Amino acid sequence: MPDKFQVVVIGGGPGGYVCAIRLAQLGFKTACVDSRDALGGTCLNIGCIPSKSLLNLSEKFYNTKNFSEQGIEVSGIKLNLEKMMKNKEKAVSTLTKGVEFLLKKNKVTYIKGKASFKSTIKISVLNSKKVERIVETEKTIICTGSEPVSLPKISFDEQRILSSTGALSLKSVPKKMLIVGGGYIGLEMGSVWSRLGSEVHVVEFLNHITPGMDSEISKEFLKILQKQGIKFHLENKVESIDKKSNEVIVKTSNKEGKKISFECDVVLVAVGRKPNTKNLNLQKVGINLDDKKRVKVDKKYQTNIKNIFAIGDVIEGPMLAHKAEEEGIAIAEIIAGQAGHVNYNLIPGVIYTMPEVATVGKTEEQLKENRTSYKIGKFPFIANSRAKSINETDGFVKILADSKTDKILGVHIIGSHAGELIAEMSLAMEFGASAEDIARTCHAHPTFSEAVKESALAVDKRPIHF
Ligand SMILES: Cc1cc2nc3c(=O)[nH]c(=O)nc-3n(C[C@H](O)[C@H](O)[C@H](O)COP(=O)(O)OP(=O)(O)OC[C@H]3O[C@@H](n4cnc5c(N)ncnc54)[C@H](O)[C@@H]3O)c2cc1C
Repeated sequence: MPDKFQVVVIGGGPGGYVCAIRLAQLGFKTACVDSRDALGGTCLNIGCIPSKSLLNLSEKFYNTKNFSEQGIEVSGIKLNLEKMMKNKEKAVSTLTKGVEFLLKKNKVTYIKGKASFKSTIKISVLNSKKVERIVETEKTIICTGSEPVSLPKISFDEQRILSSTGALSLKSVPKKMLIVGGGYIGLEMGSVWSRLGSEVHVVEFLNHITPGMDSEISKEFLKILQKQGIKFHLENKVESIDKKSNEVIVKTSNKEGKKISFECDVVLVAVGRKPNTKNLNLQKVGINLDDKKRVKVDKKYQTNIKNIFAIGDVIEGPMLAHKAEEEGIAIAEIIAGQAGHVNYNLIPGVIYTMPEVATVGKTEEQLKENRTSYKIGKFPFIANSRAKSINETDGFVKILADSKTDKILGVHIIGSHAGELIAEMSLAMEFGASAEDIARTCHAHPTFSEAVKESALAVDKRPIHF
């Protein structure tokens, strides 16, 4: 007799596990199926969490080496990469076990194995010993996430030709690392290895890094990363990647046809991710995909099959953990007959480099394109007392507000703690705040958040400290 559930969630990443917990809270008999050894999906196992662990420790290593300028003489600093990796693995395993505990606590049945559709109401789950279990379900949510894409004819060996997964687990610091792609994953991983001693080169096809970001912030970000020693080769296209016995040769060419050849120890291909729809047997039940091979859903996350839904990286939208989580909650509430909703205008994005970059709402380019008339308020961290007192003065805050109503339309921050500062502005924008609302809110002194207030004052051309 197959097990019977009201809802089966396929995928235990931030979309899937959050969705399963919310469904259980709402009273549904729920199962969550995941094929990995541990829950938490890409984010906890090979994404957000391990990358942030390495970003944090590599930043500490780099800063400690450079403290003498600030009056702290430290000698004998040595890198123990093996320990650093163990620390990362501990963070991952603590958190993934935590997710397993949360599923148990909420009475979600966790089934380990690869899921595929037998029919619209029957799911086959194959475990690592190839034992099949059939589960019956009234509704299914597909949350199978995404996986890295490579370049044509180049496959990842995770030793010399790396995806982000391999770049998170190198056993030694490469002398020279080439990164294909100037997006956030490439730049975060490039920062880690550059701080630990690698010579890092980034080859980017476009004439700027971080596509889609407010261009003023992107330009400043490029300057800061260059100052930190990362070398950028913009408007360059990779022509070939050849693996030799102890090096990789990467050949690129630019618009004018000028060729460069790089000999490096490892190449990280960070050119994007693709939705993970393989092995699910979607064609068997007739689920439609869109032109980018993502599961096609309507505004209520419903596929063309009425009892099957999809959320997270496997559908349209930014591939971000918090977007997947919000959708997980929304779909659970929709299924329960409530008004689940995600505000796609206000999904913040953060890059956890040094300094951080954080953004929410519209970029200046988008406002121009939409012919929205806007005002700009900017404030540099060099004029912020907290930033000055701790020597973290790179970057600025930029607020874009509607020129007629003063409503905040977009906020872009490059600077220390930008990832935390953006939360205030996401909340403010969710409540429809004006720049004047932020300008009149008392912010503690001395804090980085005063730069946000000052930039709101600057929208009306009345900053105090600049
Ligand atoms: C290096 C890196 C750093 C990142 N950093 C950040 C960050 O700082 N902030 C951020 O917001 N996002 C970050 N991301 C993106 C984030 O990890 C994803 O957006 C997020 O994990 C998507 O969640 P999801 O639930 O849709 O899918 P996933 O997390 O990919 O989870 C899907 C799960 O489904 C399982 N699965 C797939 N097919 C099947 C099947 N047939 N049967 C059973 N299980 C299956 C997979 O094994 C996986 O565990 C990062 C990604 C990478 C690679």
